[in-house]
Amino acid sequence: MKIICVGRNYFKHANELNRQIPTEPVIFLKPDSAILKKNKPFFLPDFSENVQYETEIVVKICKLGKSISSKFAHRYYDELTIGIDITARDLQNDFISKGLPWELAKGFDGSAPLGEFIPVSTIEDINNLDFRLDINGKTVQQGNTSEMIFSIDKIIEYVSRFFTLKTGDLIFTGTPAGVGQLHINDNLVAYLNDRPVLDFMIK
Ligand code: ZN
Repeated sequence: MKIICVGRNYFKHANELNRQIPTEPVIFLKPDSAILKKNKPFFLPDFSENVQYETEIVVKICKLGKSISSKFAHRYYDELTIGIDITARDLQNDFISKGLPWELAKGFDGSAPLGEFIPVSTIEDINNLDFRLDINGKTVQQGNTSEMIFSIDKIIEYVSRFFTLKTGDLIFTGTPAGVGQLHINDNLVAYLNDRPVLDFMIK
């Protein structure tokens, strides 16, 4: 399976990092070895001094598809959750300044913690869905899918022109504003609406 991620998909987040607002989705991949499940702890790696959280809606692809039109895209995912796109920001900024790829800053082991998947059918309006991240009981990020620059269905249309989507593939759909650094002993709890779906520790 593959993990497809969208960068700069919320205006305020693109602005907080002084990145350009994209006219087409910014796409990168993480390897499957990045996945962290079942609320297992994340261990801060020794190659970065500034490891950050990015709280994102993640959809799971449920059937094979290529060149999917956005109007049919909803048929290609049936579950979603929250994932944290853990990022070594110092490495990423260094790679960006040199015009190099970001993979090492975004795809290292454990850099994709995933919450419990929820059936899309139980969500009233997927394009108006609140989510948030609390660290040590304090809300640090909140977003709503209505604020995305590219909707979930538009992302699927775009990426499936390049990549055949397969059952089990995951799409991280971008982070709202409020990203920040992770510290040892932080407890991260992520909520879809007010339902906790992810709860894990930083070690
Ligand atoms: Zn991200």
